[in-house]
Amino acid sequence: MIKTKPTGPIPSGYYAIDGELAIGGYKAGALVAEYGSPLFVYSTALLDARMAQLRATMPDHLDLHYAMKANPFQPLLRHMVGLADGIDIASGGELRMALEAGAAPRKISFAGPGKRDEELEQAIQAGVTINIESPGECQRALKIGAAGGIKARLAVRVNPDFDLKGSGMKMGGGAKPFGMDIELVAPTVKRILNAGADWRGFHIFAGSQALSADAIIETQAQTLELAARLATTIGQSPEHINLGGGFGIPYFPGDEQLDITKVGKALAGQFKQLPEILSSTQFAIELGRYLVGEAGVYLTRIVDRKESRGQVFLVTDGGLHHQLAASGNFGTVVRRNYPAAIANRFEEEPAETASIVGCLCTPLDRLSDNAAMPKASVGDIVAIFCAGAYGATASPANFLGQGPAVEILVE
Ligand SMILES: *Cc1c(COP(=O)(O)O)cnc(C)c1O
Repeated sequence: MIKTKPTGPIPSGYYAIDGELAIGGYKAGALVAEYGSPLFVYSTALLDARMAQLRATMPDHLDLHYAMKANPFQPLLRHMVGLADGIDIASGGELRMALEAGAAPRKISFAGPGKRDEELEQAIQAGVTINIESPGECQRALKIGAAGGIKARLAVRVNPDFDLKGSGMKMGGGAKPFGMDIELVAPTVKRILNAGADWRGFHIFAGSQALSADAIIETQAQTLELAARLATTIGQSPEHINLGGGFGIPYFPGDEQLDITKVGKALAGQFKQLPEILSSTQFAIELGRYLVGEAGVYLTRIVDRKESRGQVFLVTDGGLHHQLAASGNFGTVVRRNYPAAIANRFEEEPAETASIVGCLCTPLDRLSDNAAMPKASVGDIVAIFCAGAYGATASPANFLGQGPAVEILVE
């Protein structure tokens, strides 16, 4: 007997029509018949529901930003521009896409190491806020602003002296390419002020993909405390503080939904007891996967069904070139199964143990490993969930000459 491995939890909001997985009211099979396979389907209704849930649970005056690197698909981005209070970008390319999607420059902030002079110039010209990552970058930005006669909008990204516990990707604490070590922050802000540029405040991002409310609450408290300490040293109130994000989504068996009601309540409590120096500061959090991850499904057709040494392989026309994360090759140590289903047999009981693999000629291309599935045949459609973030643009689409998947935004 082959040992069956569990799959991650299917996100809420998915349902069946005539036994078939439906997204935005359309059956998976109909979507694939019309748009082709492999196909990323993003649901507007699920995006809206997620944002509404956050608005209901987070403190009123907290801005909710979308970190667009999670999913820059233009129609989805345009929708998120309408929903979010700000768009966080991390390259000149994303700046172009955000402006194209209708984001107001005042609502865009630009973080990330290695900003080139052209990118700084485009951002300063456009009037977006730049989160400065190093003293050297600060110098270049001030020079570019002065040369163009523009008061650059500059915030300082801080490398915090703590990290988000249990986070999938640590972005703070210790030596990091992101942000400035704490002792460099005050001198840099003074330089910005002395140069007559527009100091916007701080950006403090401590980690990603946390499912523990307590860990996020602790990090937010530490972030506020750090910001107050820095502002006191500088002797000036920051207009704006980006508190980071790190809200995770359940991908794997045993993962549980983050309790955002708890996070929201704790943050509201923190806001009630802010020190004087932060009392008029506008706060924001920046979220990527939490806003869009569960709103997307990757659909891929089974092109072959074969057995090898007693194990069943469902071979699809998709793979890691679109869904690198589901294959376990994007920042995970131990490979575990994403939520997966046979879309056109969504309500059938499991009848066998099968592995879902991609069409790439590498053993890395495995979308689901020995999971319990209904008995599927050639022509059936596999659904991999949690595909709304870090799918299409975070996977090597050109590997083996495969090319990109189709993406659509439905109701
Ligand atoms: C990637 C990134 C995010 C988004 O991370 P998620 O885990 O998708 O929420 C937010 N802020 C910064 C600075 C990032 O680099």
